[in-house]
Amino acid sequence: MITPSLESIRRLPKVELHLHLETSLRLRRLAERHGDGDAAFEPHLVADPAKFSGYDRLRRLRYASRAGKIPNELYTAENIEQITYELLEESAAHHLRYVEVRVGGRRGFSLLGASRMLEAMARARARAEEAFGVRCGFIITIVRERGPEEAEERVLEAIACRECGVVGVDLAGDEGNYPPTLYTRALGRAREAGLGITVHAGEFAGPSSIWTSLYQLGAARLGHGIRAVEDPELLDYLREHHVTLEICPSSNMRLGLVSSLRGHPLKTLMSAGVPVTINSDDPMLLSTDLTRELHLVAETFQMRLDEIAGLLQTAARAAFVSNEMRSALQHALR
Ligand SMILES: [Zn+2]
Repeated sequence: MITPSLESIRRLPKVELHLHLETSLRLRRLAERHGDGDAAFEPHLVADPAKFSGYDRLRRLRYASRAGKIPNELYTAENIEQITYELLEESAAHHLRYVEVRVGGRRGFSLLGASRMLEAMARARARAEEAFGVRCGFIITIVRERGPEEAEERVLEAIACRECGVVGVDLAGDEGNYPPTLYTRALGRAREAGLGITVHAGEFAGPSSIWTSLYQLGAARLGHGIRAVEDPELLDYLREHHVTLEICPSSNMRLGLVSSLRGHPLKTLMSAGVPVTINSDDPMLLSTDLTRELHLVAETFQMRLDEIAGLLQTAARAAFVSNEMRSALQHALR
């Protein structure tokens, strides 16, 4: 079988559910363009994650990619608006019709305040929709290591800023040492307020981390979730309850969760009937984009263009949008 070309995949209308704004990396690039940064900076070359394993590898990669420190002065509302706009412009170039952008950078929130931060992003969202027709929703990322109190604070801010385009809450960070039970109260409030819940789980930790995310946090989607493959009962549950996995192939490989894409459980998950989507996660950090991720999957697993389009339809089905918008997206992706 001939793999669909990169260009034919690029042209497919798309939905992406798991994409971090990568605030510090984007601010850094912005500063470099204005001539006050380190021109040789290449985030994917700075860290050597091979020396680390598990969650420490991610921590190391993120930390090292920010080495050189981004000055606080760069965290202005104008710059946040600009980097959000650029992300949406890039998304539009890959024919994204709808994208959920995650943001959780502590510095932005503490220096600017949640409302100024999210209002700046909302301005970019409105401009990008007008200019490129790309729609967008924001997901607030809660980092486990920062504890349940900050989690609750973030949730309240997310609820207060819903008109800025906040559609959901994401629990991320160290799965192993910070179990879901610590965040039941915070995520419960988000759920009651009608926000979508997605949890980074089953990435570094095993199936029990996923079970607790489902039962204690009511996760509708899972960031990665690939270790579900270790538990057949869990696979049945995910299929029956339409819990969608946000799989990020390059991210999984870079962090050493799988040794090669061929060894990735994607196909097994799909064969078990689990709803699966493909995402780019941290495109700048990983030097990738959604088109490349889809092409990689098509190439490795011998998938046709209509099968790739099917993965994008799954993303439209699982997006945190109104039923009306969901139908419109599903129609646009046909
Ligand atoms: Zn992620």
